[in-house]
Amino acid sequence: MSVRKRTIEEHGKRTISLQGNQTLTEALQALQNLQYSENDTYLVVTLSDEKYHVMLFADLKAILKKLGPDSLTQPLSSLPLAPVSRIVPTETTESGGDLLAWVASHPQAPVVVTDAGKFAALFINPNRSGEAGLADNLSLLGLQGELVQLSQDHRADYVPKVQPPTCPHCHQANFYRLNEAMQFFCPNCKGLV
Ligand SMILES: [Zn+2]
Repeated sequence: MSVRKRTIEEHGKRTISLQGNQTLTEALQALQNLQYSENDTYLVVTLSDEKYHVMLFADLKAILKKLGPDSLTQPLSSLPLAPVSRIVPTETTESGGDLLAWVASHPQAPVVVTDAGKFAALFINPNRSGEAGLADNLSLLGLQGELVQLSQDHRADYVPKVQPPTCPHCHQANFYRLNEAMQFFCPNCKGLV
């Protein structure tokens, strides 16, 4: 069996696919240029070891809020995006239907379909019904400010609208950092947040 093109067209999620050495700025520019919605478009990052990280664009807000504007220019491979649960080549022993059934029964477990080793499609059961409260009034593109200007003049006039979070341990307002385990920590007291 294999995953047929039609299955991909009908059930694959809308994606923007970038390499690990590209940046969040490039991802957001692509989102803007394509006029896709952050609420139904997934960022797919191909890492150098042929692994994939995936995140709904709307969920990138949480990262931007915690790490601040620096996260816009760091390589995507250094951001805490979710690893995919399975990588399945189009020529697989499973049928497309089997694969879709697996996805349906595994919420929040992204599956990447590859064709000749390249990213071809993303299947995911977002199952976000209980998370409506996480939605912000500010859109992702609103949060990151006048990013449109970045394409002409890298970082020049960029004023972030995002305010640094307050550490729950030492109560200082600072953008968080990431440790090697991809956990956020406060740069002042080093406490995990
Ligand atoms: Zn602290």
